[in-house]
Amino acid sequence: MVEVRPGPAFDARVELTPDTIPPAAVESDVGVGRARDWRDALDCHPERAREVLDAAVEAGFFAVERHDGRRYVRRTARYPDWIGGLRAFENKPDLDRAGDLQCQLRTDVSLALFDEVVLVTGSYVTGAHLNRLPDPVGVWRFDAEAGDVEVVRAADSLSTEVPGLALGDRRPGRVDVEPVDADEKARLRRRVAERAYGKGWRPDGLPDCGRAAAGGPAFQPDDALPYCDWKNRLVDPARECGQACAGYEPADPPPADPEAVRAARSPWEPAPAGAARRQAGLDRYATGDPD
Ligand code: SF4
Repeated sequence: MVEVRPGPAFDARVELTPDTIPPAAVESDVGVGRARDWRDALDCHPERAREVLDAAVEAGFFAVERHDGRRYVRRTARYPDWIGGLRAFENKPDLDRAGDLQCQLRTDVSLALFDEVVLVTGSYVTGAHLNRLPDPVGVWRFDAEAGDVEVVRAADSLSTEVPGLALGDRRPGRVDVEPVDADEKARLRRRVAERAYGKGWRPDGLPDCGRAAAGGPAFQPDDALPYCDWKNRLVDPARECGQACAGYEPADPPPADPEAVRAARSPWEPAPAGAARRQAGLDRYATGDPD
């Protein structure tokens, strides 16, 4: 999971669209001023370019104009400087079955794509556990029944604005590394942030199980968080729920409205006024004509 901290122009990002702006549109040569033929402006395969174009128009980031019967595009606004910081959370409920966690954390630290990396666990954290983790990685212990978080070790800040190293294949006595320059890191950070902004962090819906509830004892029912009365804790529906679960009882999911919760408890705006105004102006161009 990734947390995005608001940057200086966060409000401008909120006004643009509640959805993810396609990264290829942000990285394209399409500007705010003069409109360009979309086929020249998007540097990818024509089919992919068409998908990017449609998604960017849908998101309200591109506007379409007609020139000699062809679609030209321009940006509706400059892409704002809205990312104040990124914090990555690596979830590992049981530290004694950590698998390739240490490799992942070493990669997180050497690449430094995120300003902070935090390991979240339900385990009791020993000194031996801490010694095995890279120093900059923070460690939080999460009690899923009580909803409490204990900061066992605070995360150190990583240097996101300088080149990093991506760790690749490991063989005895050898690790493949690939340098990643600062511009590429900035591009990747923007992609991560855009995806997180469009997706939010609550599951899209609660499990279709009679033992699922919204919230649970330690949370508000309108949290829209998936609580399991059988496991007596929050669950990850994608990983834990379904017919493979011994406690599964087929039923309609409990009612929940994750979007409404997100809108009420964060600056995210599901229907920004700016997007609606732009859409009204764009409707006359939305012909569905492929050229
Ligand atoms: S499927 Fe299993 S984990 Fe998920 S809510 Fe039902 S009993 Fe709980």
